[in-house]
Amino acid sequence: MKIICIGRNYAKHIEELANERPESPVIFLKPDSAILPKNNPFFIPPFSNDVHYEVEVLVKINKVGKHIAARFAHKYYDEVGLGIDFTARDVQALCKEKGLPWEKAKAFDGSAIVGQFFSKTEFDLENLSFQLLKNDEVVQDGNTKAMLWKIDELISYVSQYFTLKKGDLIFTGTPAGVGKVKENDELIGIIEDQKAFQIRVK
Ligand code: MG
Repeated sequence: MKIICIGRNYAKHIEELANERPESPVIFLKPDSAILPKNNPFFIPPFSNDVHYEVEVLVKINKVGKHIAARFAHKYYDEVGLGIDFTARDVQALCKEKGLPWEKAKAFDGSAIVGQFFSKTEFDLENLSFQLLKNDEVVQDGNTKAMLWKIDELISYVSQYFTLKKGDLIFTGTPAGVGKVKENDELIGIIEDQKAFQIRVK
């Protein structure tokens, strides 16, 4: 399986990092080795002093598809969830400065937190609220209605480049409020009123 991540999909997050608003979705990939095994703590990697959390709505692809029209995209997923796209912001800044790919900053072991999935029928996907709590304080408070590109548009766009396969995950971008993690932080992800993950930083 593969993990396809969308960058810069919420205007306020683009502003907080002083990035340019893209004309089309920004895409990058994480390998399956990036997924943090269930119940493991997240270890801050030794090559970074500035690892940020980015809470994101996840979509799990349920069948093979290529060149999917947005109006048919809803047939390609049954479940949505919540996760974290951990980002070594200092490493990413160097990559950006040099015009290099982001993988060292984004795709390292443990950089993908994949929480519990829920049937998409439980939610209004156009108005889905989600939060990240750090040590019991809400640090990110998002809603899919603020996405620049909606889930079905993302699936359509991504499938022009990559064949989607059953089990692939799409990380749909983070809202504002990203920040640094430190040792012993506890991160809890909430989607509507349900807990999707809880992890400890080491
Ligand atoms: Mg992200």
